[in-house]
This record gives sequence, C-alpha cells and structure tokens, in this order.
Amino acid sequence: MTALCDAHDVVFFDLDGVIYIGPHAVEHSAQVVAELKRRGIGCCFVTNNASRTPMEVAMHLSDLGIPTEESEVVTGSQAGAGLILDFVGPGTKVLAVGGPGVAAALVDRGLIPVFSSDDHPEAVMQGFGPQLSWSDLAEATFAIRGGVPWVATNMDATFPTPRGLAPGNGSMVMAVMHATGRRPDAVAGKPEKSLFDEATRRTGAQRGLMVGDRLDTDIAGGNRAGMQTLLVLTGVCTAEEAAAAHGDDIPTYVGQDLRSLLSEPVRWSDLEGGSHAR
Ligand SMILES: [Mg+2]
Repeated sequence: MTALCDAHDVVFFDLDGVIYIGPHAVEHSAQVVAELKRRGIGCCFVTNNASRTPMEVAMHLSDLGIPTEESEVVTGSQAGAGLILDFVGPGTKVLAVGGPGVAAALVDRGLIPVFSSDDHPEAVMQGFGPQLSWSDLAEATFAIRGGVPWVATNMDATFPTPRGLAPGNGSMVMAVMHATGRRPDAVAGKPEKSLFDEATRRTGAQRGLMVGDRLDTDIAGGNRAGMQTLLVLTGVCTAEEAAAAHGDDIPTYVGQDLRSLLSEPVRWSDLEGGSHAR
C-alpha cells in the first residue's frame, strides 16, 4: 500500500479545525505529524491568522504535543509583509494595524512599523488582533484616505473562538472599506496565492500537499497554487458539503481525519454523494 503522504515532499497544514480546535488538539494530529517527520516528509503550518508571531504559534503547537520550530510556521502577516514590498521599498514606514504578529513580520522584511498616521506611513498593513480598537481603525482610515497602498493579511469574515464565531479580520477591513470607499490593494491570506507562495519558497516544496478543513480557502487556495489538496472532515466542512464542491473548491482527496495521510488515498472523484468519505 502506498500512503497518501508518501507521494509528497512537504505537507502544508491549516491549523484551526485541522490541528487544533480552540485550546484542544484534534485527535491523532500529534501522532500523524510525528510519523510524517519520521518518514522525512516536511511539515509546514500555514495560518491566515496575523495576530500571533510564528514563535507564539510554534510554542502553542509544541504545548499541544507537536514539537514545532518557528521556521515551520507561515502566517498571513509574513505573506502580507512580502506583498507590502511590491508597493514600497525596504526601510519604509508602514502603519501596523493588528496584533504583535503584524509589526514583527514588517520588521523581519526590513520595514519600519509605526502606529499613528501622524508618523507619515507610506503603506498600511491590516491584520487580526484581539485588542484592535476604534482608534486603530481610525489611524488606518486617515492613512488610507491619504492615498497610501493598503494590504490586508486576510479577508476571513469570522474567527473561531471557544464561545462561537467572532468578527475576523475581513470584518475589520470592511469597516475601513466603508469609511474610505476603497478596497485593499492586495490580500495575502488563503485563498489568495501569496501565503502559499511564501510557504513554498520557505520549504522548497516540489510536490506539496495542502491539508485543510475549508473548501473556499484552504482547498481553493491550494489548488490555485498548483498543489494537491486533502480535505479533512474534522473542522467546518461536512461530507455532504465536500461531495457538493465545485470548481476550484474541489479537493484532490478527502479524508475523515489526518490519519488519511497514512492510508491509501481516497480521491474526491471516487466519492458518491459523500457517503464514501473515510
Ligand atoms: Mg481551518
């Protein structure tokens, strides 16, 4: 038997609904990641969430029993900082809107994070941050109305919390869109290509496999980036929704959970009405 993972040199994992749900690890995730590494397959954790730094994400995963290096984590902030450099050069002041991950990613790319439009930023990067306030959105609005380029780390409408879905970065971006009459000039996170490009550049993957729980972000984005994709049913997507996928949302493979990486692949095209998902 050839296991699905053995056809790939790097496996890219979405986090929420795949590796963990709220504070808890998804069952089997630690064992499967450990087995992939034992087989010499690269593991890379890819998250739209911009609020935390890669180090904070790596420490969280390690606490869940998945020993992770900072370099194995790629965030929407890192991809967003790369996009900022399409508009302005290194050494430029950029208004950092969001959690600590936003400013840290800008510094990593040689940009200078500032926090007030009075500091004359030449671009704006907006990402998620649980402490984000009206005054932060006001600073973004002043700068964007002044005409500078604006990059959003992602456009997720909601953000999962243990108490339910809360407004995500996309909802905060919508507030600034409403106030400025503009749209972001670029978006980094899934399903856009930048996050996948950053992850591929970092790992040197030749035969990458993207594993996710959302059709319209993880799967569509992985497909558009030229990867094979595995949908797991441990998060938001049900077997019925998987069977009804169309266009870019169609995964290459479907599995009940991460153990499907260690089993014979089940192609989406072999499903019948979702009833054979396993
Ligand atoms: Mg997810």
